[in-house]
Amino acid sequence: MKPAPFDYVRASTVDEAVAALAASNGEAKVLAGGQSLVPMLNFRIVDTPIFVDINGIQDLDRIEETTDGGLRIGALARHFALETSDLVKDRFPVLHEAMKHVAHLAIRNRGTIGGSLSHADPAAELPTMAVLLDAKIITARASGGREIAAADFFVAPLTTTLEPDEIIVAVELPGLATGTGWGFEEFAQRRGDFAVAGVSAIVSMDGKSVTESRIALMGLHDTPVRAHAAEAALLDDGIDAAAAAARLDAEPMNDLHGSADYRRHLAEVLTRRVLTAAMERAAR
Ligand SMILES: Cc1cc2nc3c(=O)[nH]c(=O)nc-3n(C[C@H](O)[C@H](O)[C@H](O)COP(=O)(O)OP(=O)(O)OC[C@H]3O[C@@H](n4cnc5c(N)ncnc54)[C@H](O)[C@@H]3O)c2cc1C
Repeated sequence: MKPAPFDYVRASTVDEAVAALAASNGEAKVLAGGQSLVPMLNFRIVDTPIFVDINGIQDLDRIEETTDGGLRIGALARHFALETSDLVKDRFPVLHEAMKHVAHLAIRNRGTIGGSLSHADPAAELPTMAVLLDAKIITARASGGREIAAADFFVAPLTTTLEPDEIIVAVELPGLATGTGWGFEEFAQRRGDFAVAGVSAIVSMDGKSVTESRIALMGLHDTPVRAHAAEAALLDDGIDAAAAAARLDAEPMNDLHGSADYRRHLAEVLTRRVLTAAMERAAR
């Protein structure tokens, strides 16, 4: 199918982009990599009358170190840039691993971190990484920007707390302590498909004891979520208890890719795997 007619604005600065959004009275949408938006437009799931293309905004694709050992990633950083960035690999190996599972190379070449977070698919890797890594999402708006904690950003499938005239400009990931172990596992029917379910974790240890853990679930809820019961169970009773608790943390849906029961089973199996890997890495 072909999209319905639309107007097109190409912004060359963030100010121009937010001014165009504000002037549209909530009618315009941002166009970034177009990898989710354009198919939805062609299927007429979306019939937005105005698009504000942000691809011409210089430096919005930068990946920079921050003073706390973390990274600031511009909204236009492509999936492929994250996948191949030495900074990402060095500071957030769990994110480096996750990027290999995002779609196919052609899509990774165009898709952006800002687009993925805004699109908010509950089975997408980058929203889950944002929740796992306690990301701060930095936005701009004609009336002033804000910082939104990833934990407060995702509201429902394909729904975030972004206002219609607000854009993501960057994502900040706070640095991890040296020696933090990590694990990432997902199950998809074919390589490059959206995951049926996925689990990721980071773990800190003191000798053989876990001192801190974060576990995030993907495709197992209507948004990416932290598995708080599993995190507590890991500290008190170890990996098997955490894996069993992750099954309860999950509130998955039934769909043609898998039943809710099957997804709960995946939550348990994948949690056991990621925690085993994360603890081994933390103990090295
Ligand atoms: C066949 C296929 C398979 C895929 N598989 C996966 C997968 O396995 N895992 C995965 O994570 N993703 C997958 N994707 C989605 C892909 O990662 C998209 O690139 C991503 O979801 C959207 O990024 P984009 O830059 O293309 O955004 P666009 O398509 O341009 O925009 C998506 C939405 O975000 C809004 N938006 C974009 N940028 C901003 C911004 N800076 N501020 C505010 N709003 C903004 C747009 O208005 C739109 O509503 C797949 C896509 C396809 C077509």
